[in-house]
Amino acid sequence: MDADVAVVGLGTMGSMAAWRLSQQTSLRVLGFEQFGLGHAHGSAAGESRLFRAAYHEDPGFVPFLLQARKLWQELSEKSMRELFLPTGTLSIGFGDAPQLENVFASVDHYDLPHEILDSADLARRFPQHKLTGGEIGVLDHLGGGIRPELAVTSALEQAKKNGADLHAHEPVMKIRFEEDGVHLTTERRTYVVGKVIIASGAWTDRLLPELKGLLVIKPLLLTWFTPLRISEFMPAVFPTFIRDTQDFHIFGAPVLDGFSVKISVNDIFDPIESPDSLIRYFDAETVSAIGHRVAELVPGVFPEPVRHTVHLDSYLPERNPIIGNFESTGRGIILAGFSGHGFKLAPVIGDIAARISTDQETGFNLEAFAPSRVLQPTAVPGL
Ligand SMILES: Cc1cc2nc3c(=O)[nH]c(=O)nc-3n(C[C@H](O)[C@H](O)[C@H](O)COP(=O)(O)OP(=O)(O)OC[C@H]3O[C@@H](n4cnc5c(N)ncnc54)[C@H](O)[C@@H]3O)c2cc1C
Repeated sequence: MDADVAVVGLGTMGSMAAWRLSQQTSLRVLGFEQFGLGHAHGSAAGESRLFRAAYHEDPGFVPFLLQARKLWQELSEKSMRELFLPTGTLSIGFGDAPQLENVFASVDHYDLPHEILDSADLARRFPQHKLTGGEIGVLDHLGGGIRPELAVTSALEQAKKNGADLHAHEPVMKIRFEEDGVHLTTERRTYVVGKVIIASGAWTDRLLPELKGLLVIKPLLLTWFTPLRISEFMPAVFPTFIRDTQDFHIFGAPVLDGFSVKISVNDIFDPIESPDSLIRYFDAETVSAIGHRVAELVPGVFPEPVRHTVHLDSYLPERNPIIGNFESTGRGIILAGFSGHGFKLAPVIGDIAARISTDQETGFNLEAFAPSRVLQPTAVPGL
């Protein structure tokens, strides 16, 4: 046996799973990444990610988010890096929008620290946002920003330090569940391990073809703008935000590089066939048009984006991921379909995967994320 547990894919979720597994000192942990460790080709690049505890998507995520926040702090301390910026997160929208209803349900049900700002308060406290009439704000005091590239490399660094054996530039091509263990085939050789955690993001259907067509890959565009006055967009005065204004949804983070503020449109692009068909730039006209709409809502920036990047994430129905055992003998754990909102959850998901693969209680109700939602346990290749 080459290891007790192997992690396939060392991006967002896989890096965190490797870190959490590596804390169990007697466990032999192997990890495989198709690219270099800390690469920018997957879902974990783009300078910042939003952390929100008052959750637009579904208040059911709040217990996971509260634990994730603790683990972000733990990883920050261990790595001695500021991975989490506690700016708070501002949700802006109309009071009857479903997103804000979920935000209210989250803060009420879990008693989360927050402030509700009516239009006048919002305009006074955060004049960077030009309101279109009647919008309100909820300032989530547990919200903030996460540094994705630093977070992944920090988790991998911790895992290595704790003895995990991490292989870069070694894609796993095939996984087979055999009697003597789980066989992972790479170009170098076949490894035999006790259990496998598959955290291969937008590439997952290459290892599990049953997910083809179910796991939808979408491009996500990030745009940065130069503020007219940089001081108005610094972390101390400009919290991370998410804003739903009629048909236009934007989110953003304060200036982190000294000169540009990230303000991006949410999820408006058509799915692509595979990660290989991702085009890493958008045409100048589209980018300019987005910039001009952004500047109508945030007028303190030059309307032309100063830079843009394109990334990808994989989506599942209802934007709910699958987390858990998918294989009939309990040796295959899948983490997939984080649907544009998984980064903030990553350390708790990694911890859950580590616990499942070592037969420990997770402490969470994972019913809504059961892999059986989309995968038949008998349909595993190699059985
Ligand atoms: C632009 C953008 C903005 C976002 N904003 C937010 C936000 O503000 N807040 C938030 O919470 N979430 C956000 N998300 C979502 C979040 O970033 C993703 O849900 C999350 O990063 C997905 O993680 P993952 O581990 O599934 O994928 P990845 O991070 O891509 O990891 C998958 C890894 O597996 C590797 N791999 C694949 N196949 C193999 C193989 N066969 N062998 C070895 N390695 C393999 C890949 O190379 C990759 O490293 C955003 C996503 C994007 C793209």
